[in-house]
Amino acid sequence: MAGTARYYDGETAEVQAVSVRSITAELVIFRLADAHILARWPAVELAVLGDLTHEAVPPVVRRGSEARLLIDDPEQRRQLAAWMPALSPLAAPPPAAGRRIAALGATLVALVGLFWIAVDYGSEYAAPFLPYGLQAKLGESVYDELAADKDECHGRRGLAALNSLANRLAGAADYRHEITVHVIEGGPLNAFTLPGGIVVFYSDLIDQARDGSQVAGVLAHEIGHAVHYHPTKGLVRQYGLALIASLVSGGYSDLLNTLTSGGNVQLALRNGRAFERDADATGVALLEKLGLRADGMASFFEQMREKEPKDAAAAAGIWSSHPPTAERIAATRRPPTGQPAFTAAEWQALRNVCK
Ligand SMILES: [Zn+2]
Repeated sequence: MAGTARYYDGETAEVQAVSVRSITAELVIFRLADAHILARWPAVELAVLGDLTHEAVPPVVRRGSEARLLIDDPEQRRQLAAWMPALSPLAAPPPAAGRRIAALGATLVALVGLFWIAVDYGSEYAAPFLPYGLQAKLGESVYDELAADKDECHGRRGLAALNSLANRLAGAADYRHEITVHVIEGGPLNAFTLPGGIVVFYSDLIDQARDGSQVAGVLAHEIGHAVHYHPTKGLVRQYGLALIASLVSGGYSDLLNTLTSGGNVQLALRNGRAFERDADATGVALLEKLGLRADGMASFFEQMREKEPKDAAAAAGIWSSHPPTAERIAATRRPPTGQPAFTAAEWQALRNVCK
C-alpha cells in the first residue's frame, strides 16, 4: 500500500513529500520526487505521539530517532493502523465526551511511563520521548521570560569565544544539538542550563573568575548538565504530569507562568547531588578529552566557597542546592596542565562582553 505523507528528518526544518509503504515488519519511507528510500522503520520500533483527540495528524516516530512522519490521508492511516498494532492510535475513533478524559489520562500515564523507562535506560533514550524541538521551545520560552527585565550582554567576540568552546565540549560528548550561551549583566554569581542546550552565565561570574580556565570549568560543568538532559529531566521530575500534559497538548503557557513567577524556575532547575556529580565528572572529562586545562572547576569552587550563596534564588545553577563541598572540590581537582581553553584575546573579549 502507498500514499502520500510528510517527513521531517529530525535534523533540519525541511519537510519532504514522501510515500509510505508497509511491508512485512517495516515501514518504508520513499521520497516522492525520486523514490529514494529515506528511512526504513522496523514495526517494533514504531510509535504514535499524541492522539486523534488532540491532533488532526498525530506524528509517527521511530523510537530513538527524532524524525517525524505525518500521514495526512485518513484512509491510509486507517489501513496502517489495522496492519501495524503500534500504529493503532492513528485510527482510534474520536472518543465519546465521557470517555475523552479517561483516554487522555491513559495517554499521559503511558507517556510518563515511557519517560521513566527512558531515564532508566539513559539520557540518549530520553530525548525522543520529549522531542528535542519541544525541549528547545520550552528552554527558549523560559529564557525569554527570565531575560525580559534583564540586560543581556552582546559583546560579539566574547560570546563567540564562549559559544565556540561550549559547542566543542558538547561535540566531544557526541551531543547532536547546538548549544547557545547567553550572558546576563550583573548577578547573582551563577550560571545555569535550561532545556534545549541553553546555557546562561551572569557576568558577575565572569568578572570574579581569576582566569579563563575557571570560566571554562564552569562552562564545562554546565555542558555536562546539557549533554545529560538534566534540565529537562529535572523539570519533568518536578512537574511530572503537568509538564507532559502541557507539552503533549502543545500549550505550555500555564507551566511557563508557574515556572517563571517568584523564582520558581531557580527552584525547579535545582539539580540533585547525583546530577551535580555527573556534571562535574563529565565537564572535567570533556576538557581533558579536548586537551584543555581542567583545573578551573575545582579552583573556582574553592575560590567561591566563602561566598556561597545563602538565598534560595541563588542556590540553583552551578551551586545547585549544595555549596561546593570539600568532596566536590577534591573530585574535580586536576593539575594546571593542558592548553588554555581561551586565547588571551578571547579572554579579554569575554571580560568585556557586557561593555
Ligand atoms: Zn550544576
